[in-house]
Parts: sequence; structure tokens; C-alpha cells
Amino acid sequence: MDGRDIESRVPVTESLLFQLNRFWCARIAKVYGQRVISVSARNAPAVIRAANAVGTGMTGGVDSLYTICEYSKTGCPAHDVTHLCLFNVGGHHIASESMEEIRQFRANLARKYCLEFGYSFVEIDSNLHDFAPNYPRYFSLLNAAAIMSLPKLFARYYNSSGCSINTFHLTATDLAHFETFVLDVVSTSTLKFYSTGAEVSRFEKVKALIEFAPSYRYLNVCNTHAHNCGVCIKCLRTLYALDLLDALDKYRDVFDVEAYRRNRARYLAECWVRALLARDSFAQELYPLLKAKYRVPILAKLRAAARFIRSRTKQYRPSYIRYRLAGGRA
Ligand SMILES: [Zn+2]
Repeated sequence: MDGRDIESRVPVTESLLFQLNRFWCARIAKVYGQRVISVSARNAPAVIRAANAVGTGMTGGVDSLYTICEYSKTGCPAHDVTHLCLFNVGGHHIASESMEEIRQFRANLARKYCLEFGYSFVEIDSNLHDFAPNYPRYFSLLNAAAIMSLPKLFARYYNSSGCSINTFHLTATDLAHFETFVLDVVSTSTLKFYSTGAEVSRFEKVKALIEFAPSYRYLNVCNTHAHNCGVCIKCLRTLYALDLLDALDKYRDVFDVEAYRRNRARYLAECWVRALLARDSFAQELYPLLKAKYRVPILAKLRAAARFIRSRTKQYRPSYIRYRLAGGRA
């Protein structure tokens, strides 16, 4: 991404090195507008796999639970998820609570889930975040790297995509928008990565989850706190979807459903602002449906717009705000 060559002290198999140098470096250089780098490493012997584990991440999020729900009984037994994973590769660091608190909370949640539903649990700790600190920009590869550290265990890994395929585009902002291509380049004949869930929207994923009982006690979507806070954008967009599907009461164990109902007018107005001014694709999908179900008071809208503008003018330069209002992408 920044045009610097990479020399790995860890040996890399011929097939992966070939794919990186022949198929990845030149293409990513083009996307990022950088020189074409080279990756060098000693040759690792081909992997003799001891187990045929099939993994996916277990964070409790909508994308993660959707993958577990869809890929645990696929009808193709060698492809059914056997191991649920939690990686410390930077995802725990983007919260207001301490990284260690978040890690422990998520590890306990994943461990409990595995015990209850019969999966093996793999937790990988790392210091990757110290030198690759922009987790949202390249998490697909950080997760893949964690899986690659156990080449004798895993045959397949499902990486839950947060982006739907109809938003696929090549961009230098993050890899998530072309994840299916990214994961294809790091897949080899002994370890295959899949980007899952990109065929449906987030709303459709929530729709699938309300029929998936484990989600009632394990859904954990908040990025800022260990427990779902109910007010951040990740919590709210899940609550909007549950509200639309008349499924709020199923999720009383993981959300303060009454607090959401009490403040519904304010939250709906926030969704309107996010759809209109922030051009948030989730809000744009959900707001027309919410508007059809509820009346959103004009006063709540005005207040939400004022709050939004105040927060953005504190955060961003006027030229960036003008660019986004003119339709420019983040
Ligand atoms: Zn939250």
C-alpha cells in the first residue's frame, strides 16, 4: 500500500510467494497508485496438513453469526464450520473500553458459544497491531495472516464480509470493498479463503438471524463497548433492522429494547440524517422502510441534523465536507 518492498524472515511456500509476486503486488500497486513492490522470503516446505479444520471468526456480530448460521450445515460435510476463531489482530483496539477488556469479553462469549454448540475454539494473540495499526483498512488480510500461522490445522476459512457485492469497487481506502478478490489471491491449494455473506445486504442478514435462535443471546455488534451500548451507529442500525422485522423482543438479553423504544423518534431522525448527509449505505437501505412504518417528527429531524452538522464540523475540514456532500466517497 505504501510502495515498500517486503522481506519476510518467516519462510513462505512457493505457491503463496508466486501468487503474491505475480498476481497481488502489481495489481494492488495500481489501486494504491504506488510502485510495484517485491516480496522475498526463504522457501517453506509444502504444507502437509494434519487436520482439515474449517474456520470462521466468532465476534458475535451480524456478519459473523450469519456465516456461522449459513456455513455450519452446508450439505457438503468437508465445508462445514468446525472451528470458531477470535484473533487479536487489531479489531479489539477500536473501542472506547480497554483493548484487554474487549478481548476478554469477546473471548468468553466465543468460548461459551463453542461449548454450547459443539465447535472447537481457537484464540490467536498477536502484536500485529503494533506495526499494522489501521485495522479497518486491511482486516481481511490480518485475519488471513492469523489463519496462515496454523497451516497444518486449517483447510478452509470463511471471512465474513461486511460489504455487499453490489458495492464492489477498487479503492485505496480499504480492502473490504474488493475482499473476494483479495482472499482469492492469498488462497492456495492447501488453504482456501472465502468471503462470505456478500450476496446479501445487512438487512437480509438480520432477517436470517431472527430465525437463528443462538443469535438471541450472542448477538454483539457494538464497536465501542463490550456490551451492546444501544446508541452507537453499529448498535442502532441493528436495532432499526430488528424493529422493522418486529423482532426487538427476541433480543432483550443483548439490547436495552425499552430504551430504544423510548427514544425511537430521535433514533429514526438520526437514521434520516445518516442516509441524507452521511450517505451511509445501511441507513439509505433502512430509512425508507422505517419511514413507511413510523412517522418521524420534523422537530426530531431538525435536532438530529443540527447535532450531525455540529459533530462533523468539529471532526473534518470544510473542503472534505463539501467533497462528501457533492457525492465523493469516503
Ligand atoms: Zn454500541
